[in-house]
Amino acid sequence: MSKTLFEKISAREIPAKIVYEDDLVLAFEDIKPAAPVHVLIVPKRPIPRVGEAIPSDLQVLGHLLLKAAEVAATLGLKETGYRLVINNGPNAGETVPHLHCHILGGRHLSWPPG
Ligand code: 5GP
Repeated sequence: MSKTLFEKISAREIPAKIVYEDDLVLAFEDIKPAAPVHVLIVPKRPIPRVGEAIPSDLQVLGHLLLKAAEVAATLGLKETGYRLVINNGPNAGETVPHLHCHILGGRHLSWPPG
């Protein structure tokens, strides 16, 4: 099967500013930042979207969230706060079919989203 965009970034076939990496996840700056800090954290082994995760994905999903918080803290967002976003499917605006969690911060983020 062909690689997803984020697998290509993980394989260094497409450049990105990587901010964190371990065996299970990769975090890198979004190419089109929607906030002063906008990082995507993805599982290295692709899951298309959270709605297609299966029970054996439990460990990687938990790890992804823990690392998202750690990356946010490393990027200086712990005190001011930040938002984690996972878009699932067309109505949510999902554009890349490889599960990714947006880490957004560095400015006030209004709620609810548009
Ligand atoms: P979605 O809309 O699927 O939740 O988010 C996909 C995100 O991937 C968007 O914020 C978009 O800017 C980002 N993105 C798309 N292509 C690339 C790329 O080639 N490199 C990086 N770093 N981010 C990308």
